[in-house]
Amino acid sequence: MRQIVIIGNGISGVTAARHLRKMGDDKILLISDESDAFFSRTALMYVYMGHMKFEHTQPYEEGFWRKNKIERLFGRVSKIDTSNKTLLLKDNTTLDFDVLIIATGSVPNRFGWPGENLKGVCGLYHKQDLEALEAATPRIEDAVVVGGGLIGVELAEMLVSRGKKVTFLVREDAFWNRVLPHKEACIIGGHIEAHGVDLRLSTELKEILSDENGCVRAITTHNGEEIPCQWVGLTAGVSPNIDFIKGSGIETDRGVLVDRFLATNLTDIYAIGDCAQQRIPIENRPSVEAVWYTGRMMGETVAQTIMGYPKEYTPGQWFNSAKFFDIEYQTYGWIHAQKQKNEEHLYWSEGNKAMRIAFDKNSQKLLGLHALGIRMRHEYIDQWLNKGETIDYVVKYLQEALFDPELYRSPVGQIQQTFNTQIVV
Ligand SMILES: Cc1cc2nc3c(=O)[nH]c(=O)nc-3n(C[C@H](O)[C@H](O)[C@H](O)COP(=O)(O)OP(=O)(O)OC[C@H]3O[C@@H](n4cnc5c(N)ncnc54)[C@H](O)[C@@H]3O)c2cc1C
Repeated sequence: MRQIVIIGNGISGVTAARHLRKMGDDKILLISDESDAFFSRTALMYVYMGHMKFEHTQPYEEGFWRKNKIERLFGRVSKIDTSNKTLLLKDNTTLDFDVLIIATGSVPNRFGWPGENLKGVCGLYHKQDLEALEAATPRIEDAVVVGGGLIGVELAEMLVSRGKKVTFLVREDAFWNRVLPHKEACIIGGHIEAHGVDLRLSTELKEILSDENGCVRAITTHNGEEIPCQWVGLTAGVSPNIDFIKGSGIETDRGVLVDRFLATNLTDIYAIGDCAQQRIPIENRPSVEAVWYTGRMMGETVAQTIMGYPKEYTPGQWFNSAKFFDIEYQTYGWIHAQKQKNEEHLYWSEGNKAMRIAFDKNSQKLLGLHALGIRMRHEYIDQWLNKGETIDYVVKYLQEALFDPELYRSPVGQIQQTFNTQIVV
């Protein structure tokens, strides 16, 4: 019986543990320094907003771990001794492993801003970040959120829900325009402002200023402005959580380097989830994929390989979803912020709803589709992308791919009309 140790009990590590158990009797140990039990990180915002309690983010009850003989250890791994197959923990205890899975997730980026370690400066990633924000909440009147991505907008919504005045600094000249085309970026930016957030585009953080007790009292921007605040949320992206791995002999770059089987350069050591980096990126996909569903897929895939059924990680079509206050966003395949040379785009919008469909100029085949405020059926669009359906086909059958057509006034007629009268944007 092997000892399989998994560092990290997020979605990747827990999925690997569940599938390993389904397939065999090896000893499985999950280690985490964050929480005893697995919880849904994506639901943290709803805990703060009072929609659910923290316990509700934990899908497995205590008995689950006992019944499935998955051991858990609360502690921090500080070093991996790959020659002796041993882990050193922060409390100086050691643990042996036969097989190791590194599933350590991400850490929020910090760029060495002056004042970034003051009291009242926090990211939003770990459970402890939420606890710190909750503890600080009574003394926050004005908050500043730095970084215009998905976590930043969640944090802005959280603070607004508790009556805080929020200034949101975004370096780019439109919200999330590294990912969203300009028109969609403007819709989201307007929506964020409509919720009372003071959205400052083209604005960068320069310095966080302290009061006499070492607490945040204000920030300054590169535009020379000073904005008083009692709390600063740093949400300028995340990076793989791999500092403690460096020097262990496991090859790293931005993340832990893995092949298609999620194996590192060393036998019996694997990496999955946010902390893993594909040596050769898979098609257009980023080499580090910091999203929930790919962590789950990697967990399931690596378990097969470890149990003797080697399986390549083949994530299929890119998909992601998010929510910007009240606007739901779903994206399938590839919609680039800037139209690529080989592409044509069909774009339709009305108020806060929008849809963009990218297709190949020559073959007319669907390349990607994204929607704001319109819910789509994943399986339909995934299939259209897999089959290489043409734009004519997609527009003709679009109605079938709407999720709740009976509840919403369907935009399909208007999108079809746009297609017939004004293709190409
Ligand atoms: C606020 C927020 C909202 C998000 N919303 C979405 C969303 O809507 N959709 C989406 O697709 N993705 C979303 N994400 C991203 C998604 O949550 C992550 O991609 C996913 O949780 C990563 O899972 P993981 O298992 O790889 O790592 P994690 O969930 O980060 O788990 C890793 C665990 O390992 C522990 N650990 C790390 N190092 C050590 C060590 N040395 N010793 C012991 N333990 C260690 C960490 O403390 C952590 O508990 C969101 C992320 C955040 C922060």
